[in-house]
Amino acid sequence: MDLVKLKEFLTAQNLPDFRYRQIVKNYYSGRYISFDQMTDLSLDLRSKLNSQFSLYSVFEEKVVGDQSTKKVLLKLNDGQRIESVVMNYDDWITACVSSQVGCALNCQFCATGKMGFVRNLTPEEIIDQIIYWNQKIYPSFVSRIVFMGMGEPFLNWNNLLKALEIINSSTGLNIGARKISISTAGVADKIIEFARLNTQINLAISLHSANQKFRQTIMPIAKQFNLDDLKKACLYYVNKTNRQLFFEYALTDKNTSQFDAKLLANFIHSHHLFFVNLIPLNPVDGGLNSATKDQQKQFMIYLDQLGVIYSLRRSFGQQFFAACGQLAINK
Ligand code: SAH
Repeated sequence: MDLVKLKEFLTAQNLPDFRYRQIVKNYYSGRYISFDQMTDLSLDLRSKLNSQFSLYSVFEEKVVGDQSTKKVLLKLNDGQRIESVVMNYDDWITACVSSQVGCALNCQFCATGKMGFVRNLTPEEIIDQIIYWNQKIYPSFVSRIVFMGMGEPFLNWNNLLKALEIINSSTGLNIGARKISISTAGVADKIIEFARLNTQINLAISLHSANQKFRQTIMPIAKQFNLDDLKKACLYYVNKTNRQLFFEYALTDKNTSQFDAKLLANFIHSHHLFFVNLIPLNPVDGGLNSATKDQQKQFMIYLDQLGVIYSLRRSFGQQFFAACGQLAINK
């Protein structure tokens, strides 16, 4: 719901400030499908709200998944569509949210990039993905958020910051900063700005190769911000925040040689707060090939020999294309 408009509307109706807080609280609680159910408001106000506002900005079209991972196709007010994922494992329920409709970055291995960029999501559209999941999985609720759905969050900067504030606020969704992670393909100037915010929100960088020549062939953004720029920004981030920084590295048949491991080791060893998250590549039409099991094992042996600390991320939802890099709208 657009809270700025709501406030204007209530002020115009001469309603006291606590009405606003009450409605906002109801909205964030996710317990109401429509204004009609807000029985703590007068009938008259409910019907006015109904005619002027839509409580949510995302509408379920299709859900797929199983007990641990679910993916939803959501329709927006202008007819655009996005996908959003929820994962339930290790006692945590994590929502993987989208920040844009499509994406401008066109990373070769990512399905969203193949759709092109359509538009930024509003703060409400970001928040409503989480509220949607809270309603869907009630009485459970989302306890972690990752910005790893469709889009590049750092290219929707202002709306991202507004959404983060609400997610984190005790009068909003009240999810601790340490339970929120943002992933960027490496928008270096925004990594620096993010560091300056001095929050406890986690950051992850989609690295995928420490070889500039190769990286720019699979991630066009690497031409704009090369590995040196990226490394500088990342060093600034860790020095400023003293927080760990995670580099995501999807294992393909083209970035898992001994030479690749050496370049990765060099990059990672430039700071003790740099860590590697290895991800099995999820297949995407027209994308890169996954590394074979043997290639994966061998790459980890190289990294061990070079003293690189890494973790191997499990992948969820591949069978219904809900895994990392697989979110896209098929027209
Ligand atoms: N634009 C942001 C967030 C979206 S991608 C970014 O690039 O980081 C979310 C995560 O999925 C990133 O870590 C990205 O590197 C990873 N990813 C993208 N395509 C993938 C694929 N085919 N297999 C595995 N991970 C992938």
